[in-house]
Amino acid sequence: MSAPPGRLTLITGPSGVGKGTLVQRLLAHHPQIWLSISATTRSSRAGEVEGEHYFFLSREAFEQQVAEEGFLEWAEFAGNLYGTPRQPVEAQLAAGRPVLLEIELEGARQVRRSFAAGFQIFVEPPSFAELERRIRGRGTDSEEAIGRRLERARVELAAAPEFDAVLVNGDLDAALAELERLMGLAS
Ligand code: ADP
Ligand code: 5GP
Repeated sequence: MSAPPGRLTLITGPSGVGKGTLVQRLLAHHPQIWLSISATTRSSRAGEVEGEHYFFLSREAFEQQVAEEGFLEWAEFAGNLYGTPRQPVEAQLAAGRPVLLEIELEGARQVRRSFAAGFQIFVEPPSFAELERRIRGRGTDSEEAIGRRLERARVELAAAPEFDAVLVNGDLDAALAELERLMGLAS
């Protein structure tokens, strides 16, 4: 008997809410989950590794991949392009592995249209002030980039009711436990 096809879970929410932090904790506890590595035209931040955090592409190379329908979804965010390479996601699902995407709102909406069976989780901050503190505290973005991310965050937060579940990332351990529960994983 062949293994059942894997399940696709998508996590979204405003930049700085703690999606990356939650996902890294989740993967450390559940190594069977396969996390999609996105492509982006943004420049790498200190400590980011090509092929591990992102595939860093020129705008030209990214657009070429769009033309070849190489992305499951893609979107522009805060002046840069981001996309999910299609082939690896399809291969992992076909192999029966649980697949996790961590992407922004427009991409989530595209995936909703193409993968109706996927489960979509929206991560919210406890307050807008706390979101701003986290983005600034990360210390990786210019003042201009922070402004763009905060402006975009207001739009994204309004979209929370579209999602299968809303997860408030206040206390990190509690949020991780709730994420595991939503994904049907034993903690
Ligand atoms: P995102 O991936 O959503 O952009 P990050 O995971 O980079 O967000 O988190 C943004 C900042 O907030 C980081 O400095 C991270 O350490 C911090 N952070 C994440 N989750 C929490 C939490 N539950 N409580 C306090 N700080 C958090
Ligand atoms: P960052 O620049 O902070 O790494 O990411 C900015 C935003 O882009 C985040 O909200 C992140 O979830 C989103 N993002 C990362 N990869 C992708 C992707 O492949 N597609 C889409 N649509 N968004 C992505």
